[in-house]
Amino acid sequence: MVAREILKELEQSGAVYLDIRHLGEAFIDEQLPQERKLAQLYENVDPVHELIPIKPAAHYCMGGIEVDAMSQTALSGLYACGECANHNVHGANRLGGNSLLEVIVFGHQAGEYAARYAQEHQNTCNPNEQFQRDKNFIEGIKYFTNQIDFYEKHRFMGNIFYNNAAIIREDKGLKAVLAAVRQLQQELPFMGPKDKSRTYNTNLIEFIEFGNMVELAEVVLVSAISRKESRGAHFRSDAPQRDNERFHAHTVAWKEDGVLCLDFMKGAL
Ligand SMILES: Cc1cc2nc3c(=O)[nH]c(=O)nc-3n(C[C@H](O)[C@H](O)[C@H](O)COP(=O)(O)OP(=O)(O)OC[C@H]3O[C@@H](n4cnc5c(N)ncnc54)[C@H](O)[C@@H]3O)c2cc1C
Repeated sequence: MVAREILKELEQSGAVYLDIRHLGEAFIDEQLPQERKLAQLYENVDPVHELIPIKPAAHYCMGGIEVDAMSQTALSGLYACGECANHNVHGANRLGGNSLLEVIVFGHQAGEYAARYAQEHQNTCNPNEQFQRDKNFIEGIKYFTNQIDFYEKHRFMGNIFYNNAAIIREDKGLKAVLAAVRQLQQELPFMGPKDKSRTYNTNLIEFIEFGNMVELAEVVLVSAISRKESRGAHFRSDAPQRDNERFHAHTVAWKEDGVLCLDFMKGAL
């Protein structure tokens, strides 16, 4: 709610500020030294004497890779914890400080179970079908052309997401972004990395990450389009109320033969 109001005010007046001057220099230096440094470095303002310009940004990603009570994913031997995993400890929004729980409690247990798995299984690197597919994909990237600059498309995707799929969403805007993302998926073979070397190739890593981003972007958008209600951090201006009848459930997405599938699973809560 606060983020939405800040966004509205930004649209109307162009600026929103945080005022912490009343806390005084001694308190700020003791309790908020990092914030003072960041404001000076990035905004050239000293919060002890000046207002800090602010805008809403992504702070946490709810949900993640499905795991069981032992942090085990659907792939045997692969464990997930922290912000990338879904341990079902959050609802439609995260309680402040809860990621500490995720990294400490589930990080600890994922490490223990992973170590136990490694001890009990000799052949942990079994080149299966997926491994071969990934290998072929990386081999194939060197044949991708680079007519289109994927770094530019990365920035473009950030902008269209911020404007249509972030704090305030509605069907039309989400569908427009989805069309753009599907176009990007088609264009990936023309966005290949310029650097074709095999060692220390950060260009290749960034390209692979961009491809993953475009794939996940589709999941986020299809989920947001399907959830025709507002809940937690998901706010739809064309459906501003909660709909407990239809949507009091987790959104679960998976792929079958490369096709994105989605369901709302009450049991997952
Ligand atoms: C501005 C901000 C403030 C926050 N404040 C709080 C707070 O006050 N309290 C709270 O509880 N939570 C807070 N959070 C959330 C919390 O910080 C995160 O949920 C938590 O740090 C996630 O931890 P993680 O280990 O799961 O992931 P991360 O901390 O994101 O760690 C993932 C690591 O993996 C590395 N990595 C990525 N890709 C690769 C790769 N291909 N190969 C190798 N390494 C890779 C990354 O470099 C990174 O080091 C805040 C988040 C933000 C952004």
